[in-house]
Amino acid sequence: MPQCPQCHQPIDSQAVICPHCRTPLKAYGHPGIPLHRSTKGTYLCDSCTYHADDSCNYPQRPYAQECTLYDDQEARAKEVELWQSLQRRQSLDLRTFYHRYPGVVGVGVLLVISFIITLLATRR
Ligand code: SF4
Ligand SMILES: [Zn+2]
Repeated sequence: MPQCPQCHQPIDSQAVICPHCRTPLKAYGHPGIPLHRSTKGTYLCDSCTYHADDSCNYPQRPYAQECTLYDDQEARAKEVELWQSLQRRQSLDLRTFYHRYPGVVGVGVLLVISFIITLLATRR
């Protein structure tokens, strides 16, 4: 059974307020917020992003076996990797476009240059 982070009394995992000390418990098993659980004998903090970057100040750190804020370091790394590969693909697409349509790119550059020259000329 989860404990209140303040008074450490056992509380219901769905409790919104600790019945013993009245501490608001919105992050501790509030309905709609997933409660992560470690497998027996392990701690969530060992693989949590917020433990690795030292940004967690939850009282149960570093021995959390249940936590609503847990962020899987490995999943986060995979997300970052995916995002980077998408970025790379996008920049590749721009290069592919340039190689396929050098005429269009050339006309575009000429248009931009003539626009700038017109702007400068009308300012005088
Ligand atoms: S967010 Fe939870 S799992 Fe992550 S370090 Fe803090 S207490 Fe541990
Ligand atoms: Zn309490």
